[in-house]
Amino acid sequence: MTAIASNLQAVRSDIARAAHVAQRNADGIMLLAVSKTFSAAAVREAFQAGQRAFGESYAQEALEKIAALRDLAPEWHFIGPIQSNKTRAIAENFVWVHGVDRPRIAERLSAQRPHNLPPLNVCIQVNVSGEGSKSGVAPDEAAELARAVARLPHLRLRGLMAIPAPADDPEAQRKPFARLRELMQRLNAGGLALDTLSMGMSHDLDAAVLEGATIVRVGTAIFGGRDYGENK
Ligand SMILES: *Cc1c(COP(=O)(O)O)cnc(C)c1O
Repeated sequence: MTAIASNLQAVRSDIARAAHVAQRNADGIMLLAVSKTFSAAAVREAFQAGQRAFGESYAQEALEKIAALRDLAPEWHFIGPIQSNKTRAIAENFVWVHGVDRPRIAERLSAQRPHNLPPLNVCIQVNVSGEGSKSGVAPDEAAELARAVARLPHLRLRGLMAIPAPADDPEAQRKPFARLRELMQRLNAGGLALDTLSMGMSHDLDAAVLEGATIVRVGTAIFGGRDYGENK
């Protein structure tokens, strides 16, 4: 077995263990393998080990990988910050976008989504840790953005995403995830029908699953440490 295959197996069993503790069905938790900075060959290896969904953060790098892996057609998720000059490439090449945090970007993604493709699945990024984190809409502005996204014809609003400030203590890790879950519950009580909480990375996976994550985005624990090189 390759290193990536055995890492994938370990991450899947971590998810299963946390789901068991949370009395949740692990089938309701999608593992998104975050392949940013890693080669197309590494993605191919993970695909061959059964992994289907991959997350990318940099549009140009992602497009090259997507082209190199056309024969496999994995499910591509865009998880990085979205610049307006990249919305067309994102709308054309991805199935999910996790980091929508302003109406203008959502409008462009909807307008540029090819009409022969199903609507683009969207999560709204929420800043649940206050000053510490850079991107995401403030929690009290999420409802307005969510309603605007829900009205766009070529987007399908699925849920909320967060990248909390890093914390070591498991209890501290759970707090922002609980806040995101409660926010989704409030939005649903207000008439939306969100089914996705995109939260949890290599270091806080368990906390996220305990608080209801339905997509966990895991890079390092699958592919190893990243070398950003000239990329960022
Ligand atoms: C890089 C990245 C991840 C993966 O982080 P790891 O700590 O490597 O698991 C998850 N989500 C987003 C948005 C990222 O940019």
